[in-house]
Amino acid sequence: MAERITGYTELVGLIAYPIRHSSSPAMQNEAFAKLGLDYAYLAFEVDNDTLEDAVKAIRTLKMRGSNVSMPNKTVVHKYLDAVSPAAELCGAVNTIVNDNGKLTGHITDGIGYMQALKDNDIDVIGKKMTIVGAGGAATAIEIQAALDGVAEISIFNRKDEFWDNAVKTVEKINNNTKCKAQLFDLQDLDKLKEEVEGSYLFANATGMGMKPLEGQTYVPDKSFFRKDLIVTDVVYYPRETEFLRMAKEVGCKTMNGLGMMLFQGSAAFELWTGQPMPIEYMKEALDIKY
Ligand code: NAD
Repeated sequence: MAERITGYTELVGLIAYPIRHSSSPAMQNEAFAKLGLDYAYLAFEVDNDTLEDAVKAIRTLKMRGSNVSMPNKTVVHKYLDAVSPAAELCGAVNTIVNDNGKLTGHITDGIGYMQALKDNDIDVIGKKMTIVGAGGAATAIEIQAALDGVAEISIFNRKDEFWDNAVKTVEKINNNTKCKAQLFDLQDLDKLKEEVEGSYLFANATGMGMKPLEGQTYVPDKSFFRKDLIVTDVVYYPRETEFLRMAKEVGCKTMNGLGMMLFQGSAAFELWTGQPMPIEYMKEALDIKY
């Protein structure tokens, strides 16, 4: 690092709180170094109270951009000059690009998920998927899947504080894309089974299966899965959730959340540098298996 950083080095940030645990700095810096790109990526503890100043600093310090995570993802757009169509529909931004003082917000989580599918030779375009979730990760995936050409999306969620968001997501998809979206209560397990039976892909986009819900799933038994069903999870710690374990037992092709994490970072990397991340190298360097 001492040899790499110079007076010309461009800075990219990550603004969130808490953030010290993030694996993004290691991932982004590894990729910059591998390609010999003169950038450095640092995490900054920024919450909603200091967000406006932090965004001003991106302009003042002529930073190339930043990643944005919670609690700032859903509020940072008000300090930006423009947002991408996907970020507009999601109501969230996870990447800022600074083009000579003009700050544009993007959301790369959904792009990351769709890219991870492609990288796994899974082609859901023109087909139907069933997905559980109505939070940040789920919304990004649902919007991007619809924008990319998934034909039908059946969304399930609990009737909790995220339900209204799912109602809005379904409206946005049906009003702005060619995809047909429907929302169902996750309590209706007969309906869940029926929708999964007609789907090519079944996705978990909630924290179910991760601490404090490790070892748990809302799928009551293996009859929800069939051999030719693709089953994916946004969770990557643990690498194999109970949801994926059950699916694997039936013989389904599965994908954990590591690919989404890698490719959301890769999409941001490309927005800042104009170059694709060295994906195969990154998989080896970070021991990414999904
Ligand atoms: P969020 O808080 O925005 O949403 C939480 C979602 O979980 C909601 O849909 C909520 O209804 C549902 N939920 C919570 N408890 C539940 C329960 N007991 N039963 C059923 N549903 C329940 O969270 P988020 O930011 O969307 O993150 C969700 C998961 O996605 C987390 O595990 C997070 O680590 C993971 N994630 C992964 C990536 C990646 O790159 N792989 C990116 C973002 C988030």
